[in-house]
Amino acid sequence: MKIFDVAIVGGGPGGSACAAFCAAAGLRTLLLEREKFPREKVCGDCLNPSCWPILRRLGIAERVTQLPHGVLDAVEFVAIGGQKVIVDLPSGRKREIAIKRSLFDHLLMTRARELGTFVHQESTVTALAGPTMPYVNHVYDRRSNEYWKLKTEKGESFSAHLLVAADGRNSTVARLCNLLPRPERERIALQADILLPKNFGNRVVLQFLHHGYSGQAPVDSNQLNLCLVSKPSQMPALRRWAEEQFGLSQNQPWRTITPLTRAAIPPAHENLLLIGDAARVVEPFTGEGIYYALRSGELAANAIVKISRGEDRRSVEREYRSGHAQMYRGRLWINRLARAAVLSPKIASAFLRLAQIQPSIFRLLTNKIIHAL
Ligand SMILES: Cc1cc2nc3c(=O)[nH]c(=O)nc-3n(C[C@H](O)[C@H](O)[C@H](O)COP(=O)(O)OP(=O)(O)OC[C@H]3O[C@@H](n4cnc5c(N)ncnc54)[C@H](O)[C@@H]3O)c2cc1C
Repeated sequence: MKIFDVAIVGGGPGGSACAAFCAAAGLRTLLLEREKFPREKVCGDCLNPSCWPILRRLGIAERVTQLPHGVLDAVEFVAIGGQKVIVDLPSGRKREIAIKRSLFDHLLMTRARELGTFVHQESTVTALAGPTMPYVNHVYDRRSNEYWKLKTEKGESFSAHLLVAADGRNSTVARLCNLLPRPERERIALQADILLPKNFGNRVVLQFLHHGYSGQAPVDSNQLNLCLVSKPSQMPALRRWAEEQFGLSQNQPWRTITPLTRAAIPPAHENLLLIGDAARVVEPFTGEGIYYALRSGELAANAIVKISRGEDRRSVEREYRSGHAQMYRGRLWINRLARAAVLSPKIASAFLRLAQIQPSIFRLLTNKIIHAL
C-alpha cells in the first residue's frame, strides 16, 4: 500500500498552494478534491495585492495575469443614500485584480500537479481515522497507530502520515475530528456572474443597502461579479433590488454559501494542520480570504517539510500555530469592524457620509487591508 507523506483535503487556493509547496520540496503529496475543476465558487473574486509574492514563489504570477481578469484601480464605498467615498488602489506589480475562481483555482491546482502532486478530483472525503485522534467514525471502527486513513464517497482509500484540512468553512475533516464549531447562520451570500454594465470602469463597488450589502467587480471585459449579503429574511428584498438595478430576470441563476461567520479552530493538532477557511473564516467584505488561504497553505507546507525531515513534530506544530496567529495579528479588529458595518448598513452609511468630509479614515482602513499584509 502506498503511503503519502501528506494528504490534503480540498483543492481551493489553500489546498492547492499547500500541495504545490509540499510537492516542490519532494514530498509524496496527495490532493483530494470533491469537485471537478474548473468550477465556480461563491466569492467576490478580488485578489488582494498581498497574494502576488506568494504567487511568485509558486511560479505562477505571470500566468495569473495572462488569464482573463478585471483590473481594479479604486474601491468605491456607497452609502444607502448613494453618497460615495472613493479610495485609489495600488498600481503596477501591487495592483488588485478580480479573477474568476474557476480560472484562478484551476491554475493553482494545475501548478500543484505540475510539481508532482497526485490530484484526485470528484473525490469527496467522507471518513477518516487518525494515528492519535480519540474518536471513532462510521467507516473505521479502530484507530490506526501509524498514519491517517481516508475514504472517499467513491470507496477509494488512501493513507498518509500527515493530514491537512483545506476543505473550507464547512470542513468535513474538522467535523469528523469533532473540531467543527456550530455555524452562525445570521447571514447568507448569493453570487452571480452577470453582463458587465457599459462604462462600469476599473473599480470594485462595496454598496450598503437597506437590506444588506452588495459587492460588484468586473472579472473580465464582459462579466461583472455580483455578490449580495444579508440576513436570510431580507435576502428576497435585496435580490429584487439587484434584479431591478442590473436588469436581471427572476430566473437569474445564483450560487449560495453559508455560514459567513463561525468561530475559529486551532490550526495545529497532532499530525493534522488546518488552513484557509477550514481554520478561520474572515469577513468577505474585506476581500482577504484568498490571501489567508494561500499564506496558511505555504506556512503549513513549511511545517510539513520540517516534520517529514525528522524535526521535532511538537515544536514544528507550535511554530505553525504561532505563524498562523501572526498572520492575523493586528487585523482581526478590521474584520470585527467590517462585520459590524455590514450587520448595520444604516450606521455604516451614516459613517460613510461623515467620511465624505474626512475620507482619510477610509483610506487608512483600505490601506490597512491592502498593504499591511
Ligand atoms: C460572499 C463572499 C465573497 C468573498 N469575496 C472574497 C474576495 O473578493 N476576495 C477574497 O480574497 N476572498 C473572498 N472571500 C473568501 C474566500 O472565498 C475564501 O476565504 C477562500 O475561498 C478560502 O479558500 P480555501 O482554499 O480555504 O477554501 P475553499 O476555497 O472553500 O476550497 C475548499 C475546497 O475543498 C473542497 N472540499 C470540501 N469538502 C470536501 C471533502 N469532503 N472532500 C474533498 N474536497 C472537499 C471544496 O470543493 C473546495 O474546492 C469571499 C467569501 C464569500 C462568502
